[in-house]
Amino acid sequence: MELTPEQADRAAGVLLGTAAGDALGAGYEFTHPGPDVEIRMKGGGAFQWAPGEWTDDTSMAVAVACAAARVGDLCSPEGLDAVAAEFVAWWDAKPVDIGNQTRQVLEHRDRTGRAMQLRAHDLPGLKAGNGSLMRTAPVALAYLDNAEKCGKAAKLVSSLTHYDMQAMQACKLWTLGIRHAVLFGTYDGLREALSQVDTGFWEPLLDKAESGAPSDFAKNGWVVHALQTAWWAITHAETLPAALELAVRAGGDTDTTAAIAGGLLGARWGASAVPVEWRELLHGYPGYAAADLDTLTRQIVAR
Ligand SMILES: [Mg+2]
Repeated sequence: MELTPEQADRAAGVLLGTAAGDALGAGYEFTHPGPDVEIRMKGGGAFQWAPGEWTDDTSMAVAVACAAARVGDLCSPEGLDAVAAEFVAWWDAKPVDIGNQTRQVLEHRDRTGRAMQLRAHDLPGLKAGNGSLMRTAPVALAYLDNAEKCGKAAKLVSSLTHYDMQAMQACKLWTLGIRHAVLFGTYDGLREALSQVDTGFWEPLLDKAESGAPSDFAKNGWVVHALQTAWWAITHAETLPAALELAVRAGGDTDTTAAIAGGLLGARWGASAVPVEWRELLHGYPGYAAADLDTLTRQIVAR
């Protein structure tokens, strides 16, 4: 698809914003930073990240992006197989951090999207973790020309590890919001997408995110509270860095809430809104730096 320079900058912001939020939050995971704590791209945290190193959130987003760059249509069986293969390749690289649900699926190293999806479907217990929302952003890049398929692909890619109605609807909502932000430079797409999910469930949750505080959605390992935390941060700050800092300050699963926020923030404000000193530090699986995210984005959009 042919993009204007502004749209191209916003498209490049999707993966870059995800990575920036992820790496910023990585050093604060499972903590609740007080007002006296400075939020920096410092690394550390539970897994001793290097400064600027992204975690599983961006690694899995890169996996989705690689599949989109290679195959194009993620709704097709070939597309889902490609995402599944990228996930298994990441698993084989022995990531230090991996969400419970995702681990329970990927440890079987299923060879097709269908097999992986069935595995996720059959998992026992609660299945609405935030692990598919955190990696959904690049799906938007693959469908800038087709909103309907964008929403469908978001749900399908979620279902590979998070076969759950809340997780799949959250991915659809957020991905359509990101797609709209890349194309038009506004957040209007998020609420416009409400009509395509369970509106009665999600609309009050977005309202609460706008009017409430992080303590109202504190269990942000749950996809619903993760989405609310990200939307709270976005709607309570004026700039991309300030919103990412807020997402981290909300505490809990900080790398993931900031990664989720970062995908939409980057789509809205563009790659140019990500501070250069952050961009220079960003790196992670599979041996990528910020410039590689940009290349990947161009490949997806060019298809
Ligand atoms: Mg993480």
